[in-house]
Amino acid sequence: MIIGLVSFHTCPKANLGEKDAGGMNVYLDNLARSLDLMGHTVYVFTRKHDFEESVEFSIGTRSKLVHINAGNQEVLKKDLIDLISEFSSNVQTYMVDEGIELEILHTHYWLSGLIGDLLSETWGIPHVITFHTLAKTKLRALADGEEHFSRTDSEYKLMDSVDGILVLTQKEIQDIRELYGEFSNKIAVVPPGIDLKMFYDCGIYTARNELNIPRESKMILFVGRIDPIKGLELLVRAVSLIASEKDVLLYIVGGGDEGDKYLSFIKSLVEKTGLVEKVIFTGPIAHDELRTYYNAADVFVLPSHYESLGFVAIEAMACGTPVVASRVGGIPSVVDHGSTGYLIPWRCPEAFAGQIEVLLKNEDLSGFMSQQALKRSYSLSWDSTAKTVSHYYAEIISDVANIQFV
Ligand code: UDP
Repeated sequence: MIIGLVSFHTCPKANLGEKDAGGMNVYLDNLARSLDLMGHTVYVFTRKHDFEESVEFSIGTRSKLVHINAGNQEVLKKDLIDLISEFSSNVQTYMVDEGIELEILHTHYWLSGLIGDLLSETWGIPHVITFHTLAKTKLRALADGEEHFSRTDSEYKLMDSVDGILVLTQKEIQDIRELYGEFSNKIAVVPPGIDLKMFYDCGIYTARNELNIPRESKMILFVGRIDPIKGLELLVRAVSLIASEKDVLLYIVGGGDEGDKYLSFIKSLVEKTGLVEKVIFTGPIAHDELRTYYNAADVFVLPSHYESLGFVAIEAMACGTPVVASRVGGIPSVVDHGSTGYLIPWRCPEAFAGQIEVLLKNEDLSGFMSQQALKRSYSLSWDSTAKTVSHYYAEIISDVANIQFV
């Protein structure tokens, strides 16, 4: 198959953990590489975000990441919508120049979906979308969150117009049904994988030696974009409740821009709660170096207000680290309560502090959960995700061809 993936607003090569670069980038990169490994040819189109970079990068043996010009480097995310027709027409020119014909387009996030609608109509090929996040689920979780005024409406129209909607969890089907309408006849759920060559158990003490963290410390870890949706204030407050315990350390991995409002708020909360000595902000860490942090931690905490999946929870589990996370969005499809960690349904620091302490104080329990977490992660693989996704593409291509033929 010749497949086009569109990721307009963020590039799979972007620095993860910074603004707008997270799970979706990991998903795209792994999906493209695994499809290529299966023998498919994949073109990943993204907006040229750095004018120093080349136009094309190889993916696997036959696939490519293609940077398409649209607007200048400094365009704000809220203004990207104005560049959709420029981007679409530049993709079109690239395809004509290269003589490539795609069989299916799979777009990612609503902005790419708008491009997918234009291009799939021009080319007469099917269009599948993965939203990754939806405006209404985010706004429901974060009362003072802000979204582009046309996003909800566009998402609704896209659900109506596309040939298929690919989601990562059952919960997303439920969210779509509750908040947008009945589209289940065109939705397929395909769970993501995990790269077990990158994330594996390499031993807590080896990892601690590498990071210079004393063996006797109790290390709590957060990894992710520093964004209000991640609920970091809950974690800081939870840690302040157990900080009288000797040697508790909280590592916060990931970063926003310097001077970012939310990051400043979290830093001032750390000061106010007297945790300056106990909280370490590492900034973003390269994806392939994160394994050491996950392995060094006693417990991984994901206190998000909303999370469509939570790749970081899977990564922590693949390194054998139990997870304490909010019971929101797709997290329960990843973390089994009482087995691979704990899910907290309340937005209160006491509940998080309680479960974190249970794990820090009980080595046997933590060891059991670590084993369960490892087992769970072994059941996920990008190869099987890509296989299921490619079958789904093939079905849609044939369904659309049949309809056109009738
Ligand atoms: N990540 C990273 N370095 C960092 C912070 C995050 O490589 O400093 C990666 C992390 O390993 C994970 C992704 O960014 O794969 C975040 O995905 P997740 O689904 O947890 O959150 P999202 O960003 O999609 O909300």
